[in-house]
Amino acid sequence: MEIIGLLRTGTFDLVVIGGGITGAGIALDAASRGMKVALVEMRDFASGTSSKSTKLVHGGLRYLKQLEIGLVREVGRERAIVHHLAPHLVVAEKMLLPLIEGGKYGKLATSFALLVYDFLADVEDEDKRRMLTKEETLAQEPLLREDILTGGGLYAEYRTDDARLTIEIIKTAAKHGALSLNYVRAEEFLYENKKVVGIRCKDLPTEEVLEIRSTYVVSAAGPWVDQLRKKNNSLKGKHLFHSKGVHLVVPHERLPVHQAVYFDVPDGRMMFAIPRHRVTYLGTTDTPYEGDLNHVFGTKEDASYILDAVNNMFPKANLTLNDVESSWAGLRPLIFEEGKSAGEMSRKDEVFESDTGLISIAGGKLTGYRKMAERVVDLVCKNFYHEHKKEFPECFTDKIPLTGGPFDNEEAVLSYQKEIEKKGADFKDANNFASYLVANYGRQTEAILAKAKSFTSDSQTALVRAELGHCLQNELTLTPLDFFLRRSGRLYFNIGSIPPVLDTVLEGFKNYFSWEKERVQKEKELVLKAMRAAAIQ
Ligand code: FAD
Repeated sequence: MEIIGLLRTGTFDLVVIGGGITGAGIALDAASRGMKVALVEMRDFASGTSSKSTKLVHGGLRYLKQLEIGLVREVGRERAIVHHLAPHLVVAEKMLLPLIEGGKYGKLATSFALLVYDFLADVEDEDKRRMLTKEETLAQEPLLREDILTGGGLYAEYRTDDARLTIEIIKTAAKHGALSLNYVRAEEFLYENKKVVGIRCKDLPTEEVLEIRSTYVVSAAGPWVDQLRKKNNSLKGKHLFHSKGVHLVVPHERLPVHQAVYFDVPDGRMMFAIPRHRVTYLGTTDTPYEGDLNHVFGTKEDASYILDAVNNMFPKANLTLNDVESSWAGLRPLIFEEGKSAGEMSRKDEVFESDTGLISIAGGKLTGYRKMAERVVDLVCKNFYHEHKKEFPECFTDKIPLTGGPFDNEEAVLSYQKEIEKKGADFKDANNFASYLVANYGRQTEAILAKAKSFTSDSQTALVRAELGHCLQNELTLTPLDFFLRRSGRLYFNIGSIPPVLDTVLEGFKNYFSWEKERVQKEKELVLKAMRAAAIQ
């Protein structure tokens, strides 16, 4: 039976609303403990904040400055765990913190802060922070502005693809029995004796209404959490504050940094420049947002703010709006604190439990998804025990490798990539195909490659057909934008690779879903529109 039929007819222990990293983590945690779990996502998985972050699995140095020791310790330690669960997807990335005259971080304070940071996060010897002189900092990063530079700190962080991480968690949850479906919107709660006992939803592609019955319901709706609390008449006390964050993508040769750089902005904020294969991405902004939660874009003003900040620290780059090939904009669902600016508000997560039994979680970090999930599922377990005398085991998601693995470490990923290069020798004219596929799909690459070999078309066409086939069959990919944005990341990190394969991809969708000509044309226009919007033109 299709997932939708199973959702309609099943009775669940837990329904999760929201298919971002938080909901995905909760579904995996609960399903692996033996709960019968359903998850609904109103658009595509990870289409909310979870594809719009800085894509760092990091301890958050700046939270140390705000004395959020608990948060730094938790997310700091989580980095190594998440890296271990998916080393192909969460990769070590050195971060350079240039120290400047009058900057946010002084030399001694930085040295001490990085020491504490390493200590809290249990960082191993070879990865411990290194303080650099001005000359060493410039040797490390010659593009930095020399006149105000006083030195630097080099420390360990991790980089990921947030959307792919979310999707692999959803797939891993499915292996443990969770049923997850995208493009299904939770519209109302179902009640019995004033307690939430499920949700009424709409399957958006068919407009069919369905009811999902469940002992408990968790809302992990990110920026939309308060909308659902309102529907549940439980929007009291603390509430969300939305802050917009924009990132820009430029060709790597326009800002060829050697490693990620976390640098001062003249207004007192900090910003990242992060190299990623053929591009460098830059960000972010942090501004209050009160617009439409479903349509969040970067503006020319946002872009100018970022470019000015980058040009101030890397004056030789001289970046302009014409260098921007792509961008993304997302909303931080922060817990509002009276009298604080967006940048000062805590990034800690918060769990709300209503009188009707609805559990909502918001705030937090991508990096902390596993611990956030553990806390929520522990609460569900506690309620199960008190109300139904039913017990579940403790969380063990730190031992569950994500789909695409397992790999013991990054060396194992590299040797797998070499094997793929050998096996795919016929495709060597398709640039870096092995590193691209392994970074995105891990061990699933072998199946993609085998399929590509069965096609007689040129390398590029064969590879994209096989990649799309994998996404259609295994990753609930319903539209070309799902594929270009959140399965392959091409629209962000290789936007120029889309036009040559667009018709092949549209043809793939047409054949898989039996689309009419009009639908194909409409989807093509949506892709072209998204490309124009991303380029901030
Ligand atoms: P979301 O990803 O928004 O997911 C919520 C989902 O719920 C959405 O997909 C939405 O469509 C769905 N939904 C809403 N209502 C309904 C409904 N009625 N029915 C069904 N589905 C519904 N964290 C880090 O650790 N590292 C970073 O580098 C980092 N950088 C960041 C940079 C920026 C600019 C921003 C904005 C955030 C950053 N974060 C970072 C924080 C991190 O991205 C978020 O904490 C995380 O992605 C939030 O995930 P979520 O699942 O809670 O929300």
